[in-house]
Amino acid sequence: MNTNLSNIKKAAYYLNNNDCVAIPTETVYGLAANAYSGKATKKIFILKKRPKTNPLIVHYLNLADLKKDCEIDKQFLKLYSRFCPGPITFVLKLKKGSKISKNVTNKKTTIAVRFPKHKLTRKLLKILNFPLAAPSANISQRISSVTKLDVVEEFGKKIKFVLDGGRSREGLESTIVNLVGKQKILRLGSIEKNKIEKYLFKNNKKSQQKITVPGQGKIHYSPGIPMRLNIKKPKKSEAFLLISKRKNKNKNYFYLSKNKNLREIARNLYKTLRIVKNLGFKSISVEKIPNKGIGETINDRLLRAAKRK
Ligand code: AMP
Ligand code: MG
Repeated sequence: MNTNLSNIKKAAYYLNNNDCVAIPTETVYGLAANAYSGKATKKIFILKKRPKTNPLIVHYLNLADLKKDCEIDKQFLKLYSRFCPGPITFVLKLKKGSKISKNVTNKKTTIAVRFPKHKLTRKLLKILNFPLAAPSANISQRISSVTKLDVVEEFGKKIKFVLDGGRSREGLESTIVNLVGKQKILRLGSIEKNKIEKYLFKNNKKSQQKITVPGQGKIHYSPGIPMRLNIKKPKKSEAFLLISKRKNKNKNYFYLSKNKNLREIARNLYKTLRIVKNLGFKSISVEKIPNKGIGETINDRLLRAAKRK
């Protein structure tokens, strides 16, 4: 407990000095900086090699803090009370006079916000005087980090500090929901689509601005080696990611789950991709994942991870 507290203080020290710190969240690790500071947020883009046009998600402790920067309505409050804190991100209207750095929003009038659930990160937000802009803690287009070690593998000594909060529980990024104009899910994520859709208006008013997620390019979450999906029989030379138990034991078999547990598959996906890449496998094949519930998100990530161009 003591070490945690001093680590939180250490993280706060760097963040107060406009440096970036990696933080644990229930989805994946984030590369965080003071969202009100142009100097601090610029460092995120440099470290991640992220295009400036790809805006960042801002992490808040609570509603009172959020209200300083965003316009909110009843619809948002309904979703907030059902899912927050948790793995859901909202695109909202930025308030006039908000101190959010233009780097964060790419000068847009909308902002993506979320309320992380991880205890350490909540404690950290409590002692800071600003919200944290934090995209996933990985080099752009690569696999997200789910442990401190992953973050170190991505950035080495280029970042000052990683707040170690153990392995991320969800293992997949948040679900992004647009609430400006037409309400819709912009990115599949850790909460199943149908659980959120129940709360969204259908055929609702058209937005003046078309809201998209700029960062969701075709190549994303990539292990950097070829991947084949929906495979029954792997080649001997490739790593085979499985979701149910097989009789034979092969050195190239890696289990995401032994009983098709989708939550477990989600939790193990990025870590396993990293492990097989580091073991030196030159390609990866993956067993078919049922395309229902959180399986839809897993397949979305796998499709992008398998894209080469
Ligand atoms: P990550 O970099 O993994 O944290 O993903 C953040 C995602 O949030 C990216 O795909 C961004 O494009 C998206 N995002 C951030 N701000 C906005 C915004 N104002 N409108 C729509 N999407 C956004
Ligand atoms: Mg990312």
